[in-house]
Amino acid sequence: MARDHGFHPVRITRVVQETADARTFVLDAPWPYRAGQFVTFRACGVLRSYSMSSSPDTDGALMTTVKRVPGGLVSNWMIDNLGPGDVVEVTRPAGVFCLRETAAPLVAFCGGSGVTPVLSLVKSALATTRRRVRVLVADRDADAIIFRAQLAELSDRHPERLEVHHHLDVLNDYVSEVQVRNFVNVDRHADFYLCGPAPFMELTERALLAHGAGTDQIFVERFGTASESPAGRAPAEDFGEEPPEEEPREEGTVTVVLAGKRRTVPKHAGETLLQSARRAGLAPPFSCEAGNCATCIAQITDGEAKMRVNNALDDDEVADGLVLTCQGEPVSADITVVYED
Ligand SMILES: Cc1cc2nc3c(=O)[nH]c(=O)nc-3n(C[C@H](O)[C@H](O)[C@H](O)COP(=O)(O)OP(=O)(O)OC[C@H]3O[C@@H](n4cnc5c(N)ncnc54)[C@H](O)[C@@H]3O)c2cc1C
Repeated sequence: MARDHGFHPVRITRVVQETADARTFVLDAPWPYRAGQFVTFRACGVLRSYSMSSSPDTDGALMTTVKRVPGGLVSNWMIDNLGPGDVVEVTRPAGVFCLRETAAPLVAFCGGSGVTPVLSLVKSALATTRRRVRVLVADRDADAIIFRAQLAELSDRHPERLEVHHHLDVLNDYVSEVQVRNFVNVDRHADFYLCGPAPFMELTERALLAHGAGTDQIFVERFGTASESPAGRAPAEDFGEEPPEEEPREEGTVTVVLAGKRRTVPKHAGETLLQSARRAGLAPPFSCEAGNCATCIAQITDGEAKMRVNNALDDDEVADGLVLTCQGEPVSADITVVYED
């Protein structure tokens, strides 16, 4: 398999309190990564992804920044329980919310914890390119701004190339389409990076498209939580589902190989590979179930599948037969997928 998606023990070397409800965890993880990527933690019996706020080009260590989600399981547990010296289980970095080779300006729109991968991209773009970088950072109020000092310091160091605009909802209500258009201004040929709450990203994307940006200029990272799916808090291990009685069968089979077990079930129309694997009585890894986090990745060794959404695998990985099983539906009669041990 092209990538290692197993979990590895990693020591936390430092914790930085960024705001009242956000902390940065500095990890002793010697892996290469690209700015804008994320790692997935196994904690509290579930899997959650967190983007790097560090840049491989400017920071010595890999850092993730976690913001509390009210009522959220893992974000609160990490912030309340993890400290220097603790060991966490983490995957190697993954994700495609990365810089591409271009001289075009980088214009980013981020909200709340969405600033995390954007900071990583900004640091790398400033350090490794001559591109102009402009960021609109939306937050509820001034106390909620994560990385305010870091962004201000970067602006001081790169006054000609970096512009950071802070938008505060308490002063100006939510960001509007007009504000997005005004911020873009003449930079219609920029690469646009979007990360924040779903309604914020929808509005921003709509405004950019209406302003003449092409879909190939817009890069999005969706933090879509597992709780948005019915399986939200299902444990990472030990997941089994009874087949729905009325599920329409199709000609063909789905074979799933996981942790030395090989199971074959008849194909059901409209069912994802992840659902088939659960129906087969297996407990495959998954997290966001929205095609964002790559936790459910597997290798197709026979047959073909089409993904409904793919925000995590690049073209080469898809060509190599990797699939996000939460989004992959078989298009061949028979298919075999193998999860990495
Ligand atoms: C690629 C990617 C990168 C990410 N990067 C970051 C990052 O850099 N920083 C960051 O802070 N986050 C990031 N996230 C989001 C992160 O993975 C988690 O989704 C987030 O921290 C919430 O997880 P949680 O376990 O705390 O909350 P969850 O337990 O998943 O709960 C989320 C919300 O749903 C509600 N809820 C949960 N279960 C139920 C239920 N059964 N019924 C009703 N409501 C329910 C909770 O009350 C809460 O409001 C990223 C996500 C992805 C996919």
